[in-house]
Amino acid sequence: MSELLTVEQAIAAVVEHAAPRGTHDVEIDRAFGRVLALDARAAVDLPPFDSSAMDGYAVRSADSPGELKVVGHSAAGHPAQIELHGGDAVNISTGAVVPDGADAVIEVERVQEKGDAVVVERVAERANIRLRGGDVAAGTVVAQAGTRLGPSHVGALAAAGVARVSSFERPRVAVLSTGSELRPPGTPLAPGQIYESNSLLLAAQLRSAGIESPDVLGAVPDDEAALRAALERGLQADVLLTSGGVSVGPHDLLKRLFDELGVQRVFWGVAVRPGKPLFFGVRDRTLVFGLPGNPVSTLVGFELFVRTALRACEGEADPQPRFAPGRLATPLQRNAQRDELVRAGVQAGLVTPVGGQESHMIVRAAAANALAFIPRGEGSLHAGDHVSYLPV
Ligand code: AMP
Ligand code: MG
Repeated sequence: MSELLTVEQAIAAVVEHAAPRGTHDVEIDRAFGRVLALDARAAVDLPPFDSSAMDGYAVRSADSPGELKVVGHSAAGHPAQIELHGGDAVNISTGAVVPDGADAVIEVERVQEKGDAVVVERVAERANIRLRGGDVAAGTVVAQAGTRLGPSHVGALAAAGVARVSSFERPRVAVLSTGSELRPPGTPLAPGQIYESNSLLLAAQLRSAGIESPDVLGAVPDDEAALRAALERGLQADVLLTSGGVSVGPHDLLKRLFDELGVQRVFWGVAVRPGKPLFFGVRDRTLVFGLPGNPVSTLVGFELFVRTALRACEGEADPQPRFAPGRLATPLQRNAQRDELVRAGVQAGLVTPVGGQESHMIVRAAAANALAFIPRGEGSLHAGDHVSYLPV
């Protein structure tokens, strides 16, 4: 592990190997969280007609102020079937079609209703009218290819009449934990055993990345035959995540097994803490991440590299980790050789490291809502210094 890649180099190598899969059409009600493979364009003008922004009366602005005759009613979904002439007003509700001949809507609060007539105050031309196509014109791009659709995109596309979109397929992801000491929570622990947490952690991280049903292969003991069988199955996926067994101990079998199974190593070892002995390789189109077994190393390795790879596999225009700017609340010793992802609480942009920064301390890490990126270097950072962080 003499040549450690920097975090930046490792991310670049991952992105380089992570290509989008196929595309398919997705109904708009299933489109949340999907990445567009093609630009999605408005099917209609939005609004599709000149409509009222208020409950009130549609009028000719030149007739105001004055007393006008109420000649009809235009409600949302029920346009008035009349044209408005001089001296006319049409009672209108929010979202209803502005009748032909009207050029303004006066809100009901500025109108005196007198039977079949209304006395209206002065109203300016075009007041309270939402123009046809004012939000978007038919044919205009609503969301570009490479966009991951958020709730507002889904709402916008539906409003613009888009019933289905072309999206990149989601990668199939397999998760495999390794270690003879691992037992599922809910079972008693024999001496030397610990509870298995990484596959649950990773499955939850995957779900947060939109991978709803990862193939969780469970915990496999450090036994060559059992590991080989599980890896063979996991390699059928688009992305295989393993945890543990990639370090330098006698029971760390994964690197050799990857090699024997035809996984080409892209790198092993990143100048990062925690998570240095991270393996990344490819077999055909399958990306293989061998994450170190310490739970916080697994957590950090996923956020830096796996989430980025998944974004790139899904065709997201910018797959890079989403660092946000903050300032350190307290001084912090730097690591001379390795960039550090410090578990921290961030409030109002102020970054406070949580107590317990060792890579096995997953409970301490759970108190954090951010991974603060502390670049390697000599000396300390000071309180108030700028740092970036990944929300977690
Ligand atoms: P390894 O990378 O296999 O040497 O594991 C490093 C440390 O992480 C050891 O203390 C393991 O017991 C622990 N560990 C490995 N895998 C898991 C897991 N799936 N859940 C919880 N702890 C683990
Ligand atoms: Mg192990």
